[in-house]
Amino acid sequence: MENRKGHELDSLNNGEFTFSNDTLKQDLSLLMKALDSSISGIILTDNQQPDNPIIYCNKAFERITGYQRHEIIGHNCRFLQKEDRNQKERAVLRNAVKEGKECVVEMRNYQKNGTLFWNELYMSPIKDEQGNVCYFIGVQNDVTRRKKAEQELLHQQDVMEAQISERTKSLKESEDYLSSIVQTVRESLVVLNPDFKVLSVNEHFLKTFKVGKEETEGRLLYDLGNGQWNIPQLKELLENILPTNNPVEEFEVEHDFPHIGKKLMLLNAHRIELEGQYKDRILIAIEDITDRREIERRKDDFLSIASHELKTPLTTIKGYVQIMQRLLPSDISDKFKDILKKTGIYVERLNTLIADLLDMSRIQTGNIELHRETFDFDKAIHEAVENIQAATKTHQIIIKGSATNSYTGDESHIVQVINNLLSNAIKYSPESDEVEVYLSKVSNFLKVAVKDKGMGIKIEDQKKIFDRFFRVGEIQQRFPGMGIGLYVCEQIIKNHGGTLWVESEFGQGSTFSFTLPLDERKSNVQ
Ligand code: ADP
Repeated sequence: MENRKGHELDSLNNGEFTFSNDTLKQDLSLLMKALDSSISGIILTDNQQPDNPIIYCNKAFERITGYQRHEIIGHNCRFLQKEDRNQKERAVLRNAVKEGKECVVEMRNYQKNGTLFWNELYMSPIKDEQGNVCYFIGVQNDVTRRKKAEQELLHQQDVMEAQISERTKSLKESEDYLSSIVQTVRESLVVLNPDFKVLSVNEHFLKTFKVGKEETEGRLLYDLGNGQWNIPQLKELLENILPTNNPVEEFEVEHDFPHIGKKLMLLNAHRIELEGQYKDRILIAIEDITDRREIERRKDDFLSIASHELKTPLTTIKGYVQIMQRLLPSDISDKFKDILKKTGIYVERLNTLIADLLDMSRIQTGNIELHRETFDFDKAIHEAVENIQAATKTHQIIIKGSATNSYTGDESHIVQVINNLLSNAIKYSPESDEVEVYLSKVSNFLKVAVKDKGMGIKIEDQKKIFDRFFRVGEIQQRFPGMGIGLYVCEQIIKNHGGTLWVESEFGQGSTFSFTLPLDERKSNVQ
């Protein structure tokens, strides 16, 4: 080593530097030792020789590059780049050499075994007295770890940016998706802020109410149009939505609207929240039900007229059948008697159907009359059961318990209810042979329950069976009926201030129960 260094010093001696005495030589040797103990790689290149060859390298340079001194001296430093020549930093280096200036670059270099390392290279010229660049000194550090960390950071940034832009894109997509639904929906939609100012409306709203966005958005809901939504009851319901989370459901507004005239609108309102975006907004959906209501009204009118028109000739037929039964000659054939009996039964059945239709249209128009009288309730039920039992061969009707022998209400209506419940219990339990009727008194109510062991009613159908014309889908064909009976029964019980309900298990049977208040004042509820 010492020898090599000695040789190195000689070669330097041949250049610009001249060392004339021993002190200087000692200083220089110290300097060379200092250079060798540096952790940075240091080289000197001779700019006066062709291709600027390396004429000195310290130990750290050998360690960083993996080359030995004899493989380094005499080479241009570009050998460290191996085939990786397309680095823009090369131009910076070339320019610095040409101009005789200093520079700092970070380059990809390769160790002897091919391992990449990032070289932070500081290059500076050494000039003679005339200012000519004789040598360059290069100081290099392996900054691979720092570079990797930087690259990792950059990569993370890229990944994050990609994620952000992906998220923004999908947010935008879902926003577009939502807004296209809102715009296409065939219902008028209004979004309010917590102060009941309109934030936005959809196209359908603008078309329905024949208004422009500027007349709507940003304004208080209650100030819109000619104050059509300024209804104290609606106001109270809307103001309750945010604090209680209770929606406004099926609120009808009949109003003479500006531009569109008299209309009936159905209103539903809910609190809406989109996580991270907004909360506490109110979405109002408004449906114009003017036409639908008109069609319903016409249908009801038709049913009312039709049932009245049918009732008159039927009453006459019923009368004639009764006369024929009374005036039957004694020598008449059994076959004739049987035909007359069946005619009577079918006329009666038709009569009941038409009576149901009439009842329904009376209920619809609010024309149902109650003839209140005090009667023996238990006795009336027993008689009704006996009548039905007389016409039923398949089932036995068992009455248990007692309710009251003094009730004030419309007897014929109450009997109609029990008849309906019993005939349903029999009709919808063809596999069974028993129906039970329980009479009881609960607190100041009487209670009647009709229990069958028939087909039962699915939970999702149990509420609907009290609606007009509703019949459970799968049984429509098997059993005759119009889906009116329970509707009429519920109205009659309501008119007496009572409640009618069903408990049922599908496939096991049903129990229809009603209670009626025994208290005079309550039974007057209409
Ligand atoms: P209808 O019997 O003429 O169809 P109702 O209004 O009396 O009309 O009854 C409505 C529907 O409720 C029936 O079609 C039937 O699907 C169901 N239903 C009523 N009573 C019972 C019962 N006891 N068991 C099972 N289903 C019943």
